[in-house]
Amino acid sequence: MYPRTNYEMTEAELKELLDACKPVVCMRVGGVSHSSPQENANRAWDNLGKKMGFDYMTVQPISGKGERFFSAIPLENEDQRTERLKREAEEKRLVEIKNIQDEISEKKQRLVELRKPICLGIQLDNEDYSGCTGLGGDCPECGK
Ligand SMILES: [Zn+2]
Repeated sequence: MYPRTNYEMTEAELKELLDACKPVVCMRVGGVSHSSPQENANRAWDNLGKKMGFDYMTVQPISGKGERFFSAIPLENEDQRTERLKREAEEKRLVEIKNIQDEISEKKQRLVELRKPICLGIQLDNEDYSGCTGLGGDCPECGK
């Protein structure tokens, strides 16, 4: 086992934890009952532990320091941690590339849509048109 190590969480992480520990009114929404504050708090600590690389069951406060400081037993050594952070950065990079590519193809598709002239259907009278949904496949004007 690795030696107990001191950790410091960010303000945002502290807020997340405190929010998770808040007692919530037990409600049933759509047949799903909310989990208890204790479960929420454990899950929040578990997530933080996975993110920072410590065993959340071993967390202890450090007396004299702020709420953001605590000690815990690491789940990984320095090399493993470096390796994990590198891997996570790479995963993040690939996800971002994919998101941007998706965004580009969505925008391209939207551009194609916007460039299509609007079909009013066949002209019945001076300013009167039959209208066109573009879906029926029976429009004499555009064939859609
Ligand atoms: Zn049409």
